[in-house]
Amino acid sequence: MSDVLTTMAYERARSVPEALTLLAEGGEDTRPISGGQSLVPMMNLGLAAPAFLVDVSGIPALRTIGVDGGHLVVGAAVTHAELTTDPLIAEHAPLLAMAAAHIGSQRIRNRGTIGGSVSHGDAAAELPVSCHVLEADYRVESLGRQEWRPAREFSLGYYQTDLRSGELVTAVRIPLRPRHGWGFHEYSRRAGDFALASAAAGVALDGDRIRSAAVAVTGAADRPLRLEAVERRLTGVTVAEAERVMSGLAAALDVADDPYTKGADRARLIEAMAVRAVRDACADARREQA
Ligand SMILES: Cc1cc2nc3c(=O)[nH]c(=O)nc-3n(C[C@H](O)[C@H](O)[C@H](O)COP(=O)(O)OP(=O)(O)OC[C@H]3O[C@@H](n4cnc5c(N)ncnc54)[C@H](O)[C@@H]3O)c2cc1C
Repeated sequence: MSDVLTTMAYERARSVPEALTLLAEGGEDTRPISGGQSLVPMMNLGLAAPAFLVDVSGIPALRTIGVDGGHLVVGAAVTHAELTTDPLIAEHAPLLAMAAAHIGSQRIRNRGTIGGSVSHGDAAAELPVSCHVLEADYRVESLGRQEWRPAREFSLGYYQTDLRSGELVTAVRIPLRPRHGWGFHEYSRRAGDFALASAAAGVALDGDRIRSAAVAVTGAADRPLRLEAVERRLTGVTVAEAERVMSGLAAALDVADDPYTKGADRARLIEAMAVRAVRDACADARREQA
């Protein structure tokens, strides 16, 4: 990339239609910006050089959280900090609050948004892996078009998501699942660092037995990984047996070495985080049953 300074345009959109029009008119080099907590560092490092930024962080329709039929609908510009304090999130998607509390520092959480996080596609990020477990869908809009895309198919690799030029994530939709329990754990070298490994879990109980389980992790691949084999092993066992049926998970994970961590060590961390997340989810589900 050249060091030559180029000009960059910036526009603050007041509505979704205005943002979509600006994105369509701007073309390939136009990017939405929300909290700026990932895009601005990438621009500072020379890894992104958009010609036109469309700021969507102040659009009122993207700042709402509400229940619509059988879903909780979270606007894309809701911040990580708001996820940790909102009463509807606490009631219907407490996993998002647990996960958001681990993101960066309070300063990052005050600006960063759920829409920015799922669009950015950082493989270590807390919200996309939680959205896998929550079976969330993302509303993606462009001029004249709107569709829901499942979170599970949205992450395509390191910093790659199923978004094309002109498209905007406007909401995250989460099915309401009463009487489920949730857990989230992560390991990072220092508080606030991106996690080396994290796990999100959701569990429903029938008495003392696990009726259904959803478990997803980061650290194992270039995107969040749903542990379907573990989910099958957990289904039907008692809460007391959960840890035993998860042991050996690390050996089944194929985690590559990287400059900082051996793959086998990271796999053991992932197993430990998954066991803790499931343990917490079971305890939470028991409280929901009581
Ligand atoms: C020091 C530091 C520590 C951090 N630690 C963590 C951490 O531990 N965990 C973590 O998950 N994140 C972490 N982050 C990143 C932070 O959470 C970001 O807030 C988040 O990744 C992106 O949200 P944003 O709203 O800031 O997005 P932006 O930076 O505004 O945008 C990010 C990308 O998404 C696109 N985009 C933004 N909004 C939309 C939208 N609505 N629709 C379509 N595309 C959109 C942008 O074009 C850009 O490509 C950290 C950041 C910093 C600077």
